[in-house]
Amino acid sequence: MKVPMIMTAGPTEVNEQVRKAMSERATNPDLDMNFFEFYKESIEKLKMIYKTKNETFILNGEGMLGLDSACCSLIEKGDRVLCIENGIFGKGFGPMCETYGAEVIYFSSDYKNTIDAEKLEEFLKLDSNFKIATMVHCETPSGIVNPVEKIAELLNRYKIISVVDAVSSLGGEELETDKWGLDIVLGGSQKAISSPAGLTYITISKRAFDKMEARKEPIPSFYCNLLLCRNWYQDREFPYTQPVYNLVANDIAFDICLASDYLNKHKKVATAVRSALKRGGLELYAESGYANTVTAVMVPESIEYEDLFNTMVRDYNIMISGSLGELYNKVFRIGHMGENASEDKIYMCLNALNNTFEKLGFKPKEKLHLSFVEEVNK
Ligand SMILES: *Cc1c(COP(=O)(O)O)cnc(C)c1O
Repeated sequence: MKVPMIMTAGPTEVNEQVRKAMSERATNPDLDMNFFEFYKESIEKLKMIYKTKNETFILNGEGMLGLDSACCSLIEKGDRVLCIENGIFGKGFGPMCETYGAEVIYFSSDYKNTIDAEKLEEFLKLDSNFKIATMVHCETPSGIVNPVEKIAELLNRYKIISVVDAVSSLGGEELETDKWGLDIVLGGSQKAISSPAGLTYITISKRAFDKMEARKEPIPSFYCNLLLCRNWYQDREFPYTQPVYNLVANDIAFDICLASDYLNKHKKVATAVRSALKRGGLELYAESGYANTVTAVMVPESIEYEDLFNTMVRDYNIMISGSLGELYNKVFRIGHMGENASEDKIYMCLNALNNTFEKLGFKPKEKLHLSFVEEVNK
């Protein structure tokens, strides 16, 4: 199979060292006591990325498993849940919470801007009777990072448990689980950590665990029951066999992330990508809160997104992302997270993009890749 260079909004390129680790022999994770020590050390690394002392786990499934597990384990029938949203992933929390019997109330913000914390403050003055609030840190389809710190401060004032989807921000954006007082924060292996898709990261506060323990009805799932993993170290037992090959590879991805100045690296390339695109005469989708992991760009009027995507793959072997829902065909995205937050890769991607645009009859005002080099060296 011919594999293109993946410059999408996730999954991202996986480092060779991580891929090689998948091919090393691994132990029986149910029986070998060394595995528990390995897992513990790997979790310590993840806690450093989350900036937390809270209990932290790696679940065996793609990112959505974390969202589903958090909703399933926390929510009881009739719980009022505040769904704070300004995008596709944020809004998607609503139906997921309803699956578990929540009464969902939406606080919706403009989709081109960050969530308006001042308006949320006014909203909560009138109604703050919520058990749980959900939100997304980085709205991947629009490339917007929300002010989670400010939102969490408001929620903590009213003792509302926060569930934060940080799948496309963890390891790429500033995130302070403990300092900001976040309860559940979810991450995914295939975004800024650049590990193979298939693992979910989750950190859980004592307050969130207490809510799960105090439920009247049991958690309505086996696989999504977060209480099952709570005592794994003490009991030397997981509820099911751990995917040891994936975890060993994933641990290398943590090492690579932690060995780099990852937050500054993302910020530097993202800033230069945005400047280069603007200098080329392109319009960014968002109006505020530009993400450092992904950039959403308006497809020029004269071009069809399909042609853009197909030409990039066919002629340059580079894959970019479109967008979802209402943004489909209007917006394309360049992922520059994890392994892809690389000046060389972005240069190649922007060079191909520039040439693709020219082939399709849209000539950027300045060459995208050359502007990028200037901007990134400023
Ligand atoms: C990628 C992502 C997820 C996981 O979704 P998949 O599309 O299944 O990979 C969840 N939330 C956000 C914000 C994401 O970017």
